[in-house]
Amino acid sequence: MKSFEFQRPGSVAEAVALLRADDGAKLLAGGQSLLPVLKLDLAQPSQVVSLAGCAGLKGIRSEGGELVIGALTTHAEVAASAEVRQRIPALASLAAGIGDRQVRNRGTIGGSLAHADPAADYPAGVLGLGATIVTDRRSIPADQLFTGLFATVLAPDEVIIEVRFPVPERAAYAKFPHPASKYALAGVLVARTGGGVRVAVTGAGASVFRVPAWEASLGASFSPDSLGAGAVAAGDLRSDGDASAEYRAHLVSVLARRAVRACL
Ligand SMILES: Cc1cc2nc3c(=O)[nH]c(=O)nc-3n(C[C@H](O)[C@H](O)[C@H](O)COP(=O)(O)OP(=O)(O)OC[C@H]3O[C@@H](n4cnc5c(N)ncnc54)[C@H](O)[C@@H]3O)c2cc1C
Repeated sequence: MKSFEFQRPGSVAEAVALLRADDGAKLLAGGQSLLPVLKLDLAQPSQVVSLAGCAGLKGIRSEGGELVIGALTTHAEVAASAEVRQRIPALASLAAGIGDRQVRNRGTIGGSLAHADPAADYPAGVLGLGATIVTDRRSIPADQLFTGLFATVLAPDEVIIEVRFPVPERAAYAKFPHPASKYALAGVLVARTGGGVRVAVTGAGASVFRVPAWEASLGASFSPDSLGAGAVAAGDLRSDGDASAEYRAHLVSVLARRAVRACL
């Protein structure tokens, strides 16, 4: 690991100013993805800018039909929140299934979304639930956040402040976890909302994606039997040492059925 300067600004505005003044500066939240990247020398920031001292980035609150989660809120806090469990239980159980206790106690929702790991759980949560990601300068619909493998539309000096989740009628997340890391070999979030059905898949492709064919058929008849074969084809999925594309395609269809059943 290369040496770097450590900064702990007291506000988001100061953090943004530090990022703007130095192209080599990098934000730090829970460190559960950034620190492994630094240890492996995959990035060599000149400064690491911790968000820990910035007020207003933590916490969970209800605002009308939305559940609002601050960017620095940890996975453990989301999993344990009575408000999340009551209003969007699928989100609490998604957070409870991330990594291990240590990862859940340090890792944050904002860090997970900015990192955009193709096997991470929160990308399916925000895309499937139709959330909005609020940064220091704009609101980004989840449909527009992810642009590819570990890639988002966030600018290098942009800070996620909070995530706004519309409360669905019903939602469920089903995942097949990697036995060691618990990252998703595949994970499917299904949500029934006033505006229709949403289906988001993580772990299987280069980035999280929706499945319009299943959304339409579930919209017409909300039953596992409506999930036609071939909507998620192996040709569009990833193969790696953990699972072939064909196996992932099979997992996605099994998990989608489980998620639909859990919504009934
Ligand atoms: C052993 C292990 C197992 C794991 N298992 C899982 C799993 O099962 N499922 C899963 O989803 N994840 C898993 N993770 C990842 C974990 O959820 C991380 O917490 C998460 O990916 C990153 O969050 P963080 O707060 O630690 O961010 P950091 O590591 O601090 O930062 C990650 C990236 O996001 C940027 N960033 C951080 N906060 C913000 C912000 N507010 N605005 C803009 N950019 C920001 C940073 O600059 C950095 O580029 C695992 C990690 C480990 C080490």
